[in-house]
Amino acid sequence: MDTNILVIGSGISGLTYAIKMAEQNPSLEIVMISKNSLLESNTRYAQGGIAVVSNFQKDSFDKHVEDTLIAGAGECDREVVEFVVKEGHERLQELIDWGTHFDKQKNGLHLTQEGGHSEKRIVHYKDKTGLVIQKSLIRKIKTFSNITLLKNHTLVDLITDHHSGSQYQRCYGAYVISNLEQEIIKISAQITVLSTGGGGQLFSHTTNPENATGDGLGAAYRAKVYMEGLPFVQFHPTALYPKINGNTFLISEAVRGEGAVLKSVSGKRFMTDKHPMAELAPRDIVARSIAEVVNETGDDFVLLDCESISEKEFENQFPTIKENCQKIGINPPKDSIPVIPAAHYFCGGISVNHYGETSLKGLYAIGECSYTGLHGANRLASNSLLESLVFSHRAALNSLNQMKEDLPPKEFYLQLPEWKEEHYISNEKISAIGRMKKQLQNLMTAKVGIFKTSSGLTEAEMELKNIFSETQDIYRQNKLTLGICELRNMVSVAYLMIKQSQDLKQNKGVFYNQDYVE
Ligand SMILES: Cc1cc2nc3c(=O)[nH]c(=O)nc-3n(C[C@H](O)[C@H](O)[C@H](O)COP(=O)(O)OP(=O)(O)OC[C@H]3O[C@@H](n4cnc5c(N)ncnc54)[C@H](O)[C@@H]3O)c2cc1C
Repeated sequence: MDTNILVIGSGISGLTYAIKMAEQNPSLEIVMISKNSLLESNTRYAQGGIAVVSNFQKDSFDKHVEDTLIAGAGECDREVVEFVVKEGHERLQELIDWGTHFDKQKNGLHLTQEGGHSEKRIVHYKDKTGLVIQKSLIRKIKTFSNITLLKNHTLVDLITDHHSGSQYQRCYGAYVISNLEQEIIKISAQITVLSTGGGGQLFSHTTNPENATGDGLGAAYRAKVYMEGLPFVQFHPTALYPKINGNTFLISEAVRGEGAVLKSVSGKRFMTDKHPMAELAPRDIVARSIAEVVNETGDDFVLLDCESISEKEFENQFPTIKENCQKIGINPPKDSIPVIPAAHYFCGGISVNHYGETSLKGLYAIGECSYTGLHGANRLASNSLLESLVFSHRAALNSLNQMKEDLPPKEFYLQLPEWKEEHYISNEKISAIGRMKKQLQNLMTAKVGIFKTSSGLTEAEMELKNIFSETQDIYRQNKLTLGICELRNMVSVAYLMIKQSQDLKQNKGVFYNQDYVE
């Protein structure tokens, strides 16, 4: 396959980028691949909403900028924070114009508050914000005849000079596996966009869906693309305990924004002793406080007491949360909700400039797989959907300009080599993949999770070496499958996360090494 633009991933960032490109230049051929259905993504599960300044009587861009910088613990790029906050308003309006509905009140959009925000500024649709955004973008993208949508297709590796033997020092598309037929397809492209989301599945408890295995990061690593901030994994303080059908369900921060408080199982409210903003303190502080209480008491969870929210209000604003709690026999707001922290968001990722360009020409990274400088060491709640919208727009404008530059000739792309199956096929050890994923998740949770130590990181590195060599064996000895691709990526990302964590000599934001505490 040969195309102008290859977009990898169909969450808010990939969809927004592709729509913009198709709108701006209908003669472009655009191919979008997605690992599963077009809907399955982190975006789909976003509950809280998008942080955008809209009530200019009370709120201001400056306040949003300050809140973001404080949460980011000195690691944010101020210039990026400023343009993202300012441009958010226009991008949100676009989303509304494309058919996304948000909750309204008398004088405009209904706004909620989340941890770390000094004002109510979260635009939302009940507790299903991501789902309504994702659905409206999918409806919109299907109206373009110049976009080919390939679901159930997974990125294997980016095509670079390493494959082509040329010296343009660019990305030329990607090798992709069709999940069902397990065939590897070469998709050559003048511009390739990674919008593959995060990698919460590296940990045992995560709010991310099963397909969030850090694939874009793994492929970028193999293509020698520069990456930053991987130790900054945000753990969401309140995920429902226990799992439902193997998945960890998120209890949005907006519930605390509406007045719910955290208590130990014995009934003691503890956040008031930990931070002046109590339950609405930045996420890292709340998550660590909960983990401390759980460690101290030996209980499996703490409780989220929602009694201050009326029955009607809860039902109206949090219908999905209520429904999921009821699945485990809990009926909020009457009953308190059992919660624990869970891996939620990768603040770090592929380094990009202000237009989503990576260190490899022709390759862009947008959304959660990127590191833009917006979040620094800790993302402010609901700033990620905002970042996706702003950077998709900027990357699209930049791509259109890049298309006008001197690109390698068309014949060059057509002659790129097919994927070489270098492996001898014995189908040995293929059944070990599930076990190895679990082993990796347990290792990362125990040694590279909320609390780290220097010796724990060294132990993690040693154990990961074993997992790596077993993964390499499986990779070499088997026909490539989706499971192998994912495991390979998870191991690469885990390795980078451990190495970058070892290099950090100071606690910042969500990064917390107990050896650095005085
Ligand atoms: C439960 C939950 C609640 C959240 N709530 C909020 C919130 O309220 N506000 C907020 O701002 N943020 C929230 N977030 C974070 C936010 O949803 C994500 O950061 C954002 O949606 C990321 O969008 P994205 O387009 O970058 O990636 P995603 O939406 O994750 O999309 C990634 C896409 O890439 C595809 N993909 C992955 N690997 C491959 C591969 N190898 N080949 C092909 N395709 C691939 C996936 O199938 C998917 O289509 C939440 C996240 C979760 C999990």
